[in-house]
Amino acid sequence: MTAVSSLSSTVFPKACLCGLSYDAASWARLRLVGRSADDVEVLELRDCVCKSTLAVLVSPTLAETRALLERALHLLTRERSLMACAGDHSALALVADLQAAVARLS
Ligand SMILES: [Zn+2]
Repeated sequence: MTAVSSLSSTVFPKACLCGLSYDAASWARLRLVGRSADDVEVLELRDCVCKSTLAVLVSPTLAETRALLERALHLLTRERSLMACAGDHSALALVADLQAAVARLS
């Protein structure tokens, strides 16, 4: 992941070591290798014409945002009984807010 991250850039034009560079429109026409949505940030990987794989940070799609919220909600829900025992009402309110946010995205 480190090697890929070091290639990432949030700013177009995206330059390749081969000398070609891409704006957002020409980037979108390159062959999509994949997207990594394991984190809040999403890395989009595309192959340059020279076959090198480049990466840029992109905004998560609605589906990716929903998946992230669902993972957080799943983790928090597991701890819900502990929160209730501890009388942690702000944590319980956060769970309720997340449930509402996920429902709105569905
Ligand atoms: Zn290239």
